[in-house]
Amino acid sequence: MQSFNWNLPTEIRFGSGKLAEAGAVCRRFGTRCLVVSTATTPWLHALLERVQGILSTAGIAMTHFDGIRANPTTEQITAGAALARRFRAEMVLGLGGGSSMDAAKAIAVEATHPGSSWDYLWFRETQPTEQTLPVVALTTTSGTGSQVTQVAVVTKADERCKSAIYNDMILPRVAIVDPELMCSVPRRMTAFTGFDAFTHAFESSLHPGCHGLIDMMAREAISLVLHWLPKALDHGDDIEARSGMALADTLAGLCIRSAGVTLPHGMAMAIGGMYPGVAHGQALAIVYPAFAAFTADAAPARFAWLARQLDPSLHGAADAVAAARSASLINDFIVRIGISDKLSNVGVPRDELDSLAAACMVLSDYKNNPRVATAEEMRALVLRSW
Ligand code: NAD
Repeated sequence: MQSFNWNLPTEIRFGSGKLAEAGAVCRRFGTRCLVVSTATTPWLHALLERVQGILSTAGIAMTHFDGIRANPTTEQITAGAALARRFRAEMVLGLGGGSSMDAAKAIAVEATHPGSSWDYLWFRETQPTEQTLPVVALTTTSGTGSQVTQVAVVTKADERCKSAIYNDMILPRVAIVDPELMCSVPRRMTAFTGFDAFTHAFESSLHPGCHGLIDMMAREAISLVLHWLPKALDHGDDIEARSGMALADTLAGLCIRSAGVTLPHGMAMAIGGMYPGVAHGQALAIVYPAFAAFTADAAPARFAWLARQLDPSLHGAADAVAAARSASLINDFIVRIGISDKLSNVGVPRDELDSLAAACMVLSDYKNNPRVATAEEMRALVLRSW
């Protein structure tokens, strides 16, 4: 068995009603909190009032920055960081999905360091220091796992490029995962985010950094998604289904914290960078069938396991036989949850496919795939997803 180190500094508070603990949690880090979210639409308005009450009872003054949008940009982070400095925030609370939690992490860096969040990307020499403000993550979607990862995805709009800060300094000190907060996620967004969690688990199991503990969590996360996602889609207020998905998301987040993602995520990041209107989970659903067809032969045991989860009649079949069925079974699952799509339907013009394929090879994710695509093969993967 492969040896490994395991270290998770993030404290996880998981379960219905855990929102009530936000006051005691945040009080550890001071008395001035910047709350970061997307626009204050009705679902958020009521939640924000509750958060304000909980923080105020704990003796914490808060200010609210709601200037984040899905796929947050460096400009939005800069505006949030300026507010954090003006308010003299001692902590940043990310309230929302991956966009809000990632933005909170990036703001925690930019508010305390020279330059912009873009200067602290994963490959830069300059990295976030201990000056970074403490981050608390209060997740309201079940998909990105951002509440337990050292990753903050940001987009530089003028470069049409999506990249990430990747550093333990931005790991949330505490993750509050309260499934009650997820009941308001609309059906389509539930499917996108749920599929994202699935992909984190599956790609981590393919990643060279996968070890026994990750494998165990990845399998459990995938089983949870396959069981609970259809139920959460049918009944958004089914708290058991939301809890199952929240657990899947958190386990899958722990998988990427320790291993990582592969080819589809590099492709989805490129799509999100060039076409910010495409949701992250939507981009993944678009590329997954092509990725599976391309990769299954290179990791037959993993793909066969997944195929058997999707179609139990394959339990007696040899790995090669089951793995060969995996791409079409994954596609069926994507169709079943209602998010089957093509690049051509989401505004990607034919004449940009070559530059998109090149962008898919900017992040190193594709190199961690069991089968590493050449530039030519990447163009074919993009074309197949178009
Ligand atoms: P999101 O945060 O972009 O939210 C999508 C939409 O859903 C927003 O309009 C938001 O306001 C709304 N929403 C969120 N919670 C809601 C609720 N409870 N009820 C109703 N509406 C709600 O979506 P996401 O998929 O969670 O995050 C995507 C972002 O996370 C992308 O930028 C992606 O690149 C990034 N990401 C980060 C990591 C990581 O490890 N940090 C991993 C994967 C993806």
